[in-house]
Amino acid sequence: MLIVKKFGGSSVADKEKIFNVAKRCIEDYQKGNDIVIVLSAMGKTTDHLLEQARDINPKASKREVDMLLTTGEQISVALMAMAINALGVPAVSLNAFQVAMHTTSAYGNARLKRIDTDRIKNELENKRIVIVTGFQGINKYDDYTTLGRGGSDTTAVALAAALHADKCEIYTDVDGVYTADPRIVKNAKKLNEITYGEMLELASLGAGVLHNRSVEMAKKYGVQLVVRSSLNNSEGTVVKEEINMEKMLVSGVASDKNTARIAVIGLEDQPGVAFKLFNHLARHNVNVDIILQSVGRDGTKDISFTVKEDDLDEAVAILERHRATSLKCQKIDVERDVAKVSIVGAGMMTNAGVAAKMFEALYDVGVNIKMISTSEIRVTVLIDEVHVEKAMNAVHDKFLLS
Ligand code: ASP
Ligand code: MG
Repeated sequence: MLIVKKFGGSSVADKEKIFNVAKRCIEDYQKGNDIVIVLSAMGKTTDHLLEQARDINPKASKREVDMLLTTGEQISVALMAMAINALGVPAVSLNAFQVAMHTTSAYGNARLKRIDTDRIKNELENKRIVIVTGFQGINKYDDYTTLGRGGSDTTAVALAAALHADKCEIYTDVDGVYTADPRIVKNAKKLNEITYGEMLELASLGAGVLHNRSVEMAKKYGVQLVVRSSLNNSEGTVVKEEINMEKMLVSGVASDKNTARIAVIGLEDQPGVAFKLFNHLARHNVNVDIILQSVGRDGTKDISFTVKEDDLDEAVAILERHRATSLKCQKIDVERDVAKVSIVGAGMMTNAGVAAKMFEALYDVGVNIKMISTSEIRVTVLIDEVHVEKAMNAVHDKFLLS
């Protein structure tokens, strides 16, 4: 069997943890499997490198930042090869150049296009454990690129797809995917299985276990993922297309505090207004999430929407710039202390009343809903940030307490 195993930064943060990972991989190797390991940089290395870059030159070019960041993963793969060698097993570390992992040219946010597999296959044939740098690639200029924060998951899934691996295991410091963040919801439980669609919604809601592009890629290429702990032998959570168990109505609850609301009040009620508003934002790459438009009255209407809190100041500046000319509104209102709470579940598609049940849970604990948005398998509400904990617990327990 060919197994791709990915370990995050916290699983290789020091010597003891590196040897712990090395031993786990050797166990599977000694059962006769081919092993490819993908690693992130040790502990908080990537953050520290970014700080160093900012310290030297806050306007450093993205090319040079990537050149710097890729060193983090190169350290962890080399040390891992040394650890495995020290335990008497042959291993080789490879970076993005040596494998040849080709990406688009966008520094800092590149996408994998193609992975050459010859070198890895040769090394596996020679019975070596192969250890590959996560998060990095090379572009058509032969420069290093990185895949965006958390991108090592995507490297692992892409490698599993390219090598037609039998298994892709993502090791982390939690036991798997939970019904909610256990630090916020005390009754949260580990899920045995979850669909790609549910995992994608949870990952983009900031559930934090998997990079969302890795889930997109796994879905596209049918790579079955297992998310499991590097600290114990528990089974973990399987992420796949169709789950065996009866679909749960709701499989997870997530929240996102990095959210702010902008209300544009007193816009003219005529064609093209929404287009102009969102086009100004889109041109500056400001992503908009939930959108709500009021019913028109007296020839005016209001449009409110949410953005990432990080983008708030920029979004307001853009709107203010166009206020007098193309936007013509009476007022721009901003609310920072809001958060999204969402429920996700593949079973929603075929069951009525899920949203109502969520709203009831919020009513039970006296939480007011400011905005609502839904997809086939998700319901999201916007609430005051101070109520997130209470709301998460109430909603979670309404659907998931058994
Ligand atoms: N080391 C990179 C980061 O910290 C990539 C990863 O961990 O997946 O974002
Ligand atoms: Mg990660």
